[in-house]
Amino acid sequence: MTSLPSLDTLLRADPLVPILEKYGRQAATDSLRKVLGSFRELPDTIPETSSAIAETIAQHAINLLKRQERGVLQAVFNLTGTVLHTNLGRALLPESAIEAVTLVAGSTSSLEYDLSTGRRGDRERGLVERIIRLTGAEDATIVNNNAAAVLLCLNTLAKRREVPVSRGELVEIGGAFRIPDIMKSAGCRIREVGTTNRTHLQDYEEAIGPRTALLLKVHTSNYVVQGFTATVDESELAKLGRAHEVPLMTDLGSGALVNLESFGLPHEPTPMEVLRAGADLVTFSGDKLLGGPQAGLILGRRNLISKLKRNPLKRALRLDKMTLAAFDAVLKLYEDPDRLVERVPTLRHLTRSTNQIRAQADRLGPAIATALKKDWSVRVEPCQSEVGSGSLPEAKLSSYALAIRPIERRRGAVKHLADQMRALPVPILGRAHDRALLLDLRCLDDETGLTEQIQQLEDAT
Ligand SMILES: *Cc1c(COP(=O)(O)O)cnc(C)c1O
Repeated sequence: MTSLPSLDTLLRADPLVPILEKYGRQAATDSLRKVLGSFRELPDTIPETSSAIAETIAQHAINLLKRQERGVLQAVFNLTGTVLHTNLGRALLPESAIEAVTLVAGSTSSLEYDLSTGRRGDRERGLVERIIRLTGAEDATIVNNNAAAVLLCLNTLAKRREVPVSRGELVEIGGAFRIPDIMKSAGCRIREVGTTNRTHLQDYEEAIGPRTALLLKVHTSNYVVQGFTATVDESELAKLGRAHEVPLMTDLGSGALVNLESFGLPHEPTPMEVLRAGADLVTFSGDKLLGGPQAGLILGRRNLISKLKRNPLKRALRLDKMTLAAFDAVLKLYEDPDRLVERVPTLRHLTRSTNQIRAQADRLGPAIATALKKDWSVRVEPCQSEVGSGSLPEAKLSSYALAIRPIERRRGAVKHLADQMRALPVPILGRAHDRALLLDLRCLDDETGLTEQIQQLEDAT
């Protein structure tokens, strides 16, 4: 058995010189220690000659350093067919929002500084003014995400008091957001009313008492209750609330700021509709149908918004400057509704025509077939995309996919191909369906980039 060289010897060996240069002494030394340690545990794997040892150790160290160098977040191709994929970061920002983020990230800015008076300013004032102009709401405030918005409202307005909620609206959203749990964390007592499928105005009425702080309505954004059902809408609930001097709050979830029907999508209630129906507060996400950065918006009555702003939790849940800049840029685009769809990627992806997607599939199919060689068939097939993030759960968007199937059926072949696509420098994520790997092209913007990745697959398959 050959013996291992010392760390000092290795650091002076020729193959290690470029590693030291590239990654620095500290990182190189740490990785060499790890590699030496693993060879000590498996002495049989040590090469015969000392030059081969240095080469092998250098190679292992480089691989380790390359893995560590990779950022925590990697860009991926989302060809899953789910437009707002929570696990893939939901909405993509428009160009102008990316520029706004870059600007404030690398430059000092007037974040909380009023340039006209030279005094301290309010970080969200400009943004709130824009929201009010766009929505007609009396007032607004903005926090880290919609979960935070719900938490802040409940904690401010209903701490140690009761909040009636319909049993049909005890929603769970992915990522451990559950209405009963968030209510508990906010310090308020949930008062369940009605049943899973039917809740009546009378149920709320009977639940209202001296301890009632707030009526809560939750938009069942990610599921539908069908059949023998009854719910109480905002206008009836608002009337009841007013009669008992109890405000009504709606957790709207997705919160589209435009009428989606005008783009051929199903109707999704807008915050403006909810406020017009009589809700005193409405909360929704910034990175769902709105197509902006992660944020939670709260719109509604001025006196209630003022209370929210005075809660110390508001400071803990505030937006950072990059999100603020991005959000402002996105809302600016909403001031020009005619060009909204071409500028906001989420809306563009949701409304792409099937013809366009099909043409893209026809262009890319041959390149992918060539790269995969003869073992695979690649066909252009119709499929259905989804909105995602619990928005419009029933909407199916007609789309086209490249369906990749092994020519000879082999167990695990599709899974193996999916693994290899995930291992590419820019991973390609599709979905398995009907013994095929489907690459739904609805969200593909960068065709050239995809082809480049696919060509790298050639060496792997
Ligand atoms: C998505 C959603 C939430 C959570 O919003 P985040 O912005 O992800 O925190 C809360 N309530 C409803 C009804 C939702 O759809």
